[in-house]
Amino acid sequence: MTDTPTHCPYCALQCGMNLGGGPAPAGAVRPGSGPPLRVTPRADVPANQGGLCQKGWTSAEVLTVPDRLTTPLMRARRGAPLEPCTWDRALDRIAAEARRLRDAHGPDAVAVFGGGGLTNEKAYQLGKFARIALGTSQIDYNGRFCMSSAAAATGRAFGMDRGLPGPITDLAAADAILLVGGNVAETMPPFMRHVTAMQRAGGAFVVVDPRRTATARQADLHLQPTPGTDLALANGMLHLALTEGLVDEEYVAARTNGFAAVRTVVNSYWPDRVERITGVPVPHMREAVRLLARGRRSYVLTARGAEQHARGVDMVTALINLALALGLPGREGSGYGCLTGQGNGQGGREHGQKADQLPGYRKIDDPAARAHVAAVWGVDPAVLPGPGRSAYELLSALGTAGGPRMLLLFGSNPVVSAPRAAAVEERLDALEFLVAADFVLSETAARADVVLPTAQWAEESGTMTNLEGRVLRRRRAVPPPDGVRTDLEIIAALAGRLDAPGVWSAEPAEVFDELRAASAGGLADYSGITYERIEREGGVFWPCPSPEHPGTPRPFLDRFATPDGRARFTPVEHSGAVEDVDADYPVYLTTGRVLAQYQSGAQTRRVRPLTDAAPEAFVEMHPDLAERLGIDDGADVRVASRRGTATVRARLTDAIRHDTVFMPFHWAGEGRANLLTNPALDPVSRMPEFKVCAVRLEPVAAP
Ligand code: SF4
Repeated sequence: MTDTPTHCPYCALQCGMNLGGGPAPAGAVRPGSGPPLRVTPRADVPANQGGLCQKGWTSAEVLTVPDRLTTPLMRARRGAPLEPCTWDRALDRIAAEARRLRDAHGPDAVAVFGGGGLTNEKAYQLGKFARIALGTSQIDYNGRFCMSSAAAATGRAFGMDRGLPGPITDLAAADAILLVGGNVAETMPPFMRHVTAMQRAGGAFVVVDPRRTATARQADLHLQPTPGTDLALANGMLHLALTEGLVDEEYVAARTNGFAAVRTVVNSYWPDRVERITGVPVPHMREAVRLLARGRRSYVLTARGAEQHARGVDMVTALINLALALGLPGREGSGYGCLTGQGNGQGGREHGQKADQLPGYRKIDDPAARAHVAAVWGVDPAVLPGPGRSAYELLSALGTAGGPRMLLLFGSNPVVSAPRAAAVEERLDALEFLVAADFVLSETAARADVVLPTAQWAEESGTMTNLEGRVLRRRRAVPPPDGVRTDLEIIAALAGRLDAPGVWSAEPAEVFDELRAASAGGLADYSGITYERIEREGGVFWPCPSPEHPGTPRPFLDRFATPDGRARFTPVEHSGAVEDVDADYPVYLTTGRVLAQYQSGAQTRRVRPLTDAAPEAFVEMHPDLAERLGIDDGADVRVASRRGTATVRARLTDAIRHDTVFMPFHWAGEGRANLLTNPALDPVSRMPEFKVCAVRLEPVAAP
């Protein structure tokens, strides 16, 4: 078997790998046809340069998991067991339920929930399916829980949201990188190659994180603020930049608007006050600003730690303000960037599966955008619905009066990944009909009325857009097991049964060509990108408005994507976490990820080497806090917030603040971190406050 060059199924780095024949992993049996696949890293892909993490190395094992679904499952009625059935019966029943509920209650009675791991083609087709096959406005996706705050903040500041400001290889030549709220050494380890290269060349790596993570341990400077105080820290650093004369006044005058209002706000963020709010010593803040300002070839990067807050847009805005004041964005080799998390976190938000968007990153309430997309779809613009509910609001409305009564779920497992997860379970159970397309019976799929078994990444082709904004080819290496269909085949089959207007191809290349036409003229313009070009050039950066256009690796060099071409400062004030600690809940909880698991764990919790490395949920806490609470290392602990209780193993480490505990969110059951998290939403991005809430802890008494 010859090697198939493709990309990892997991995170937004989209490491290049070859899939080929080789020795089978012990015990692995591929249902259907073909032997297990061997993974080898590709050195020709700039993002990983021959590296892979543990998840990537073991990614082919996901194809061989013993509980892989190979036949549709259906319940005769709510409460009855899931039983195998034919594809025709499953699809007929879904279409009949959608028609029944739509006729009785209107098109918004049926909702769609997508995922940031879906290919561009699937994200596009799902948005189209919702709008013109179902006619519903009720579609959103789990990317809302990922980087929506950074997307909104960059849209506000630069007029366009696009991951990193340039090719990832630019990072190695930087003078400094300030990384706020990201543990990339665990979430995307090959990223650290670029950081290490920069450090070896004399650049400084500054990390902001309440925990001394693997990433923070490699930093030249680690700032360890109280959770929820990054905005105050950024304003304080900008205050110091002003007092030290480090602001690039010439750049600010030439390329930005609105600095005067920001200057007025940050005047009151004097260093002692910011130290009191954040707990970060003034000399550390000062050193961080000086490192960032030297040479003017520096990056401010954010990840979920800065973004998953009920004021996430303002937190990121404060950091963008700092980057703009130092003159970093819009110059080659420097700028602000968001480290997208999910595999297609970038592309997933560009093609229409967001509640408020149409393909090409167009706004759904823009008449010109509606007219363009409707023409591509062959419908009257008047039939396109308006904006729908954001992800958490959609999940919260399920089964309520006036809310959706049926949900079709693709590529998501909200029972584990959504905040206040127990309430989400209740809402799913209140539906009249739930459909899940998945490759296994995930915790969410297990609650469905119909489960459709889907192909995995190596069994189908498509494109992904990585954290650089580079559009890449995922290639099919093996056929799917017998009985399994691709998401595109499922969508096309349902669209046919619903008599949807227009063309519904299940061929990724044909869907991509339609996506190119729908995106033409939009912010995320893919019209000049073809499968052949991606093949030839190893990836193409969007926007790329014509076949002759070279693509746009560094989008803001000449002008920002605002009407006047200038970046926008926005003044923002610190207000702290929505839920602060108090006598009843005296400890901050922050949540995140570990090296050997990915997102809700539906894939990685089924891979033996990964479960061996990271077998169970835990709470990380400082030994001093543990002693005060009478908790031993390895003991079972009850962690309670105002929303629920989780029971997990204690893991003691002095790498975390005394007032904060950390829980990864990858596991299901009673150890679920998201039983505790706060669903308070950002007013702009509708991002929940995953990153901070108040909890109390107590040892579980021995029986
Ligand atoms: Fe896959 Fe991300 Fe690991 Fe690369 S860093 S191998 S893309 S999970």
